[in-house]
Amino acid sequence: MKLPVLMYHKVSEHETPGRLNVSPKQLEKQFRYLWESGFKPISVQELLDHISSGRQLPAKPVMITFDDGYESQFSNVYPLLLRYNMKAVIFLTAGFIQNANINSQSEYITIENILAMKQENVEYGLHTMEHKSYEELPLEEIEKDIKDLKLFFSLHEIPFVSCLAYTFGAFPRNDKEKRIMLFKLFEKEGIHLAFRIGNRVNVLPFKRKFLIQRIDIRGDDPSWKFKWMIRYGRKWLPI
Ligand SMILES: [Zn+2]
Repeated sequence: MKLPVLMYHKVSEHETPGRLNVSPKQLEKQFRYLWESGFKPISVQELLDHISSGRQLPAKPVMITFDDGYESQFSNVYPLLLRYNMKAVIFLTAGFIQNANINSQSEYITIENILAMKQENVEYGLHTMEHKSYEELPLEEIEKDIKDLKLFFSLHEIPFVSCLAYTFGAFPRNDKEKRIMLFKLFEKEGIHLAFRIGNRVNVLPFKRKFLIQRIDIRGDDPSWKFKWMIRYGRKWLPI
């Protein structure tokens, strides 16, 4: 079974559509297309249940993910998720999260926004404390980062699924020893899945659950590319 995992960042009408921004109109078109073509967004929890106990997934599953925790994910994405009855995962960088009373001008999400979104529609995953790269951080610091993240989430009573997205999509690609130690650390810390970029459509069962590929959805891509990519990934684009 194929599982495309889509990666988004901002969804703002105030910024030009580009590498990190898709306009709310584009996103709605894409959601409508997924809905009309029979793709069913699944949650990480459903995927974990499928992996651990064989729970059946929809015939055409897709996973929708958003990185970094932007305010527009609350103001523009969440209403669309409700309208289309869809699910998405937001990978939060803890250090970016705002306190609504202190800074209302930030482009990042607040604790209040996070707690307001319904768990049926939005799950939260880990995306480091300070957006540092796990390719570069030493293992001891990665271990501290994961522990700090779990503490942060529980102190703020943010429900989260124990999975992470690598910042910059970066993992120890060229350092096999560190990669093996990192994956052992994930096991020890109860991290179930880790998402990179990679731009291919995954095939279930996963061969490498800590290197799940996501397709980078950019606001400057024409809509035919989206339709192609959710089936074949970005790697095999005809142009
Ligand atoms: Zn990021």
